[in-house]
Amino acid sequence: AQPAYASTNPATGEVAATFDFATDAAIGEALAAGHGAFLDWRTLTVQERAALAKRIGGLFAERCDELARIAVEEMGKPLGEAVEEVEFCQAIFDYYAEHGPDLAADQPITSFSGDQAVVEKRPIGLLLGVMPWNFPYYQVARFAAPNMVLGNTMLLKHAESVPRCAEAIQRLFDDAGVPAGVYQNVFATFGQVEQIIADPRVQGVSLTGSERAGSRIAALAGQHLKKCVLELGGSDPYVVLDADDVAAAATQAWETRIYNTGQACNSNKRMIVMDDVYEPFVARLTELAGGLNPGDYSPLSSRTALDRLKEVVDDAVAQGATLHAGGVVGDGPGAYYSPAVLTGVTPQMRAYREELFGPVAVVYKVSSDEEALELANDTDYGLGGAVFSSDVDRATKVAARLDVGMANVNTPAGEGAEIPFGGVKRSGFGRELGPLGMDEFVNKRMFYVK
Ligand code: NDP
Repeated sequence: AQPAYASTNPATGEVAATFDFATDAAIGEALAAGHGAFLDWRTLTVQERAALAKRIGGLFAERCDELARIAVEEMGKPLGEAVEEVEFCQAIFDYYAEHGPDLAADQPITSFSGDQAVVEKRPIGLLLGVMPWNFPYYQVARFAAPNMVLGNTMLLKHAESVPRCAEAIQRLFDDAGVPAGVYQNVFATFGQVEQIIADPRVQGVSLTGSERAGSRIAALAGQHLKKCVLELGGSDPYVVLDADDVAAAATQAWETRIYNTGQACNSNKRMIVMDDVYEPFVARLTELAGGLNPGDYSPLSSRTALDRLKEVVDDAVAQGATLHAGGVVGDGPGAYYSPAVLTGVTPQMRAYREELFGPVAVVYKVSSDEEALELANDTDYGLGGAVFSSDVDRATKVAARLDVGMANVNTPAGEGAEIPFGGVKRSGFGRELGPLGMDEFVNKRMFYVK
């Protein structure tokens, strides 16, 4: 059976609160309220909706400490990173509040006949968001902010492990004065998710999460002819062609990898390093990882997440990969796993193909730019990728041939509210954030006047 929504502290294993699934009747009411709210919400001006988004941004700032603490207690991320996440949410709401009206503006077409033609950006209606626990606020913000400004209304089914974050987000909308029904958190079961997608009042669904969940949601969306946006996993390549300061390069790669305890879709899950800098690069990573015991760093989001990660690392080691440091599970009920460095991963190991969703630096050695590229693209995923070199042209040439949705040169990831985010291949489709984030659940209505 599907587990209930529960707030479990991964540092201690203690369950702080559990939440009942919504009743089918409550889901029915939420659908009616969401659709009813849409009929009014879409008649407001974009500026009016943007003003409410701005207020939500302000509340993220005001409640930063409280929100950050809840995220730490529910999914274990380091406090400083939780604060950064909340600040990013404020930036996202501010961005769509400020730029939304321009992004939603009519686009005149120069018709050959001289008649008046315009492409309007109209909201499409009630949407469903299905979101994961790894960035419990940010994942919701990048779906909710552009869509509320555009004039869509939303039901939000959050991950079962972060119900208190889910409720805190609902309070932000309510306290900002957003009309009832525009944004509704629902503690839905998988069956109810299906009921929601099937409902004729619902016009689209956006999911961030695993391939498994993505393919299930996409199948339902397809069956019911609903638009869907999927932001799935990644196994992003991080290619180091050369480095003036190898230790600094390795330190940057390491900090990127252990951010959010390695649980980011666009984390640098595969480091691909040129042979002449490979040894000192791995040595530096090993030094950094070697200083950490389980418990010195934040826990993974749950014991289940830890077990899943450990299984893939253990499989690699059993087949001959080298664990240079880390990979130790802490004593006690906490989900502690010491950050690890793994080399010698070969294509028959699970670690070669699967997404390692935790703090494990996997390093590959290559001897040419061509070989680096081939390895970088040898994955079913296509989210992001980064290429580093002291020669920007060289790195740019390699990055230009990455089969990804986000290519970066000399930085782990270009990020910001204004920078689009999303992938290709099995990493999903559609884009969030920036101008493209407001271009998904929209009726680009052609309006023609003779
Ligand atoms: P899931 O993909 O299972 O969870 C994401 C969201 O989808 C949750 O709200 C979840 O609900 C929901 N969901 C899952 N299955 C269904 C379904 N059949 N019908 C409706 N909703 C569904 O992530 P997990 O927590 O299980 O993580 C597993 C792996 O997914 C990770 O190890 C990682 O590889 C990847 N992942 C990637 C993320 C990313 O940012 N791209 C984020 C999170 C995970 P519920 O919580 O109730 O199961």
